[in-house]
Amino acid sequence: MVPLSRGPTPRVLVEYGAPWTQAYVAERAAKPTQRPQSRRYGHAEVRLELRRMSLGKCFYCERKLTEAEEEVDHHVEVAERPDLAFEWANLYLACTPCNSGKAPNITHPIAACVDPCAPGADPAAHLTFDRERIAPRANSPQGRATIVKYDLHRDELDLARSRALTGFYEALIAVERCARLDRRGDFNDAERELLRAYADPARPFSLMMAALLRRLGL
Ligand SMILES: [Zn+2]
Repeated sequence: MVPLSRGPTPRVLVEYGAPWTQAYVAERAAKPTQRPQSRRYGHAEVRLELRRMSLGKCFYCERKLTEAEEEVDHHVEVAERPDLAFEWANLYLACTPCNSGKAPNITHPIAACVDPCAPGADPAAHLTFDRERIAPRANSPQGRATIVKYDLHRDELDLARSRALTGFYEALIAVERCARLDRRGDFNDAERELLRAYADPARPFSLMMAALLRRLGL
């Protein structure tokens, strides 16, 4: 998870957000389990803007998503706030496991978790990594709640993060070899830049990579 800043409201929501919300709230009054239409809140224009915000990654776990894998998530659940079903600020981009595995707000309130879109959000203050394994930083209760809520310690993510680390360490070994062959005691600017690029926000798992680079003094 990294801080994200929200772009402008997609045109389709400016135009239809209010009538869609009104219709949905009325439908829900008649049928309390009614879900909002995904082709509305997950409209192509909405997804395009969400994709721009996160550079194509899940807002929660930072996995790179293909368009087929993208889900539009209601950050505050519709069961809790049906009036936010088409609210731009409540729509997040998530992978299926982060979205469907999400612990309910009743047991894991959203307010207790780190919100990547909140102004001044600082996920790095609450989340850290031991190799590929995510952990709350300095026993942060918000970090712990976030990991549980989105199941960020699931095996599938550990494996994906582990593969990303392998890629980084292969690059590190190659760079160290170059420095050794050139009889340099340190990396040059280009080598540092190459390694630091792994923590670029466009790359998957950039929060983990940034923590690792800090630890390595890079
Ligand atoms: Zn995810």
